[in-house]
Amino acid sequence: MNRRYFLSMVGAVAAFAAVSKFTGLAGALLPSDNHAATGAALAANAMERGGAVANGNLNDRTTKAKGIKKVIKTDAEWKQILTPEQYSVAREKGTERAFSSPLNDIHDEGIFECVACELPVFSSKAKFDSGTGWPSFYEPIAKESVQEVVDKSLWETRTEVLCARCDSHLGHVFDDGPRPTGLRYCMNGVALKFVKS
Ligand SMILES: [Zn+2]
Repeated sequence: MNRRYFLSMVGAVAAFAAVSKFTGLAGALLPSDNHAATGAALAANAMERGGAVANGNLNDRTTKAKGIKKVIKTDAEWKQILTPEQYSVAREKGTERAFSSPLNDIHDEGIFECVACELPVFSSKAKFDSGTGWPSFYEPIAKESVQEVVDKSLWETRTEVLCARCDSHLGHVFDDGPRPTGLRYCMNGVALKFVKS
């Protein structure tokens, strides 16, 4: 192929690609571009639906947090905000010692917020004395305020409860709670902040 022929070929391919793109044919002709476009469209759709996209992952958990704008910080930033005990439970999924939290004995009316981002997560209205030594509630303040995730870290499969806004670990939920829900949200008091009404 001589140089002139080569250049005209390049020109023709480029022109065709430009036209195809314009007419919407590019997707069929340029599969990699098409993938990128589809990915971007999916992300845009997810954003439009109000589900925040955390860490670039579109998963089930983010869709449950519909309407809540994510708070995303680095571990170093969380360490500056939280005490070592709060950090260990909220960011490293630790569990406080039973009967160690003063929130266990709080029976005043008020709101329990996520200690890390202050999102209201439980109301005193749903608090009950479970006798376990951990603050317990039969429901979150709103379905969207917490995320529930299957946790297989111990011998039994449990359901982990996370703050829907900052993904802090709050505790676990079990199905041996009182009426009306039959659920027991077993929370770490150190992951919560009580705000009296
Ligand atoms: Zn939070």
